[in-house]
Amino acid sequence: MRTGEDLEVRGQCALCLRDEILMDSHLLPKALYRFVRAADGSPIVLNRHAAWITDKQITKHLLCAACEERFHRHGEDWTLRQIYRGERRFRLLDVLNRCTPVAENSQIAVYALSDLPDILIDDLSYFAVSVFWRSSATDWQIGDHKLPRPTFGPKYMAAFSEYLLGNAGFPSDVSLLIEVCDGPTTAANMLIFPIGTVAAGYDRYDFMVPGVLFRLFVGENIPVELRSCCIVTGDHPVVSRRNYEQLIYSRLALLSETARISKRLKDEMSGPPFRM
Ligand SMILES: [Zn+2]
Repeated sequence: MRTGEDLEVRGQCALCLRDEILMDSHLLPKALYRFVRAADGSPIVLNRHAAWITDKQITKHLLCAACEERFHRHGEDWTLRQIYRGERRFRLLDVLNRCTPVAENSQIAVYALSDLPDILIDDLSYFAVSVFWRSSATDWQIGDHKLPRPTFGPKYMAAFSEYLLGNAGFPSDVSLLIEVCDGPTTAANMLIFPIGTVAAGYDRYDFMVPGVLFRLFVGENIPVELRSCCIVTGDHPVVSRRNYEQLIYSRLALLSETARISKRLKDEMSGPPFRM
């Protein structure tokens, strides 16, 4: 019997713009769903309007096979080996554990990228930009829920495309930061698709995969301190480490006041530290 996956869909690849057979592309890589289940959880999907638990993968016929392969080879394969993959399997945190932070307080430790040669910045940044670009390149849905679509605008989307195609370097007026979660519990089974806000004169977006938070700042008015610590183009690139689970709790708490929370998620979150 033919399934939906067997059916060929032809169209214009959203990245290289060639007319090709389109793959069933994922907004976030398929492997991530396996990781969160390995962490003894189910993906918790969160957007600005709703939060729910689901194993449904978010896909769309978006990219040709060559561009899919490009995404795998240039960022995804390495990055997915570094994030939280189950107990005591978290290479990025292991790398930080072997180094001395350049600054720390009780909440956060900051590491100079120059002390972290094991971190492949090109792969990490390519992966991050590919996810941010995908989130904005089309409308994505999970069941009946439409995910919020970041609007970077034509100038930045073109710059992201050129970077992803290998025709240009990392875009200017864009700053990428990463945070590694120290001791993830909820963050181990959390996928947060790109969501963002417009701050004063620049946009701020983030997404979360198990154990790692990617933050992107876009615009001419990005504050100097945010430009300076960009992992790609900053003067003082850093990786920070903290237990950012509080961020998840506060987002869920905020959502509980304004949004539909699925019953299954409410049940799951009924005990501490989530009190809906
Ligand atoms: Zn393509």
